[in-house]
Amino acid sequence: MTALEPQRSGEIRIPRASPISQPFWEGCDRGVLPYQRCDSCSKANFNPVYICRFCTSKSLSWHESAGLGTIYSWTIAWRPQFPSFATPYAPIIVDLDEGYQMISNLVGCDTEEVHVGMRISTCFHRVADRTLPYFTPLEISRGVMFGE
Ligand SMILES: [Zn+2]
Repeated sequence: MTALEPQRSGEIRIPRASPISQPFWEGCDRGVLPYQRCDSCSKANFNPVYICRFCTSKSLSWHESAGLGTIYSWTIAWRPQFPSFATPYAPIIVDLDEGYQMISNLVGCDTEEVHVGMRISTCFHRVADRTLPYFTPLEISRGVMFGE
């Protein structure tokens, strides 16, 4: 049994906000998970875009996800992509309940427990000057902030 935990080193590569992703990162700082929904076709768009990837409308609005989803795919990384990453960690593709996917990491359980279809909830971890969105099994309470 090996527990999955958030990265704690400030030496890891930290995502930088761009003009289009700034609302997403500001939401993470507040403990919510923003995403865009197209005002024309109503489909969810993620990663953030200037033009709807489904209908090319330029009319998109930000919404807050409930932060609930299901693991679509996963892996366990035993060898870090960069030396500053502590292992093991579990990159996941999440099907969010609002109808979009995002890549994140699973924490708060053991490596042996990870499986496709696992119900998960977002949680946030502050590292350096950025709040990173992680996911944890649903039975663990929402809004857990690691590393405070
Ligand atoms: Zn659209």
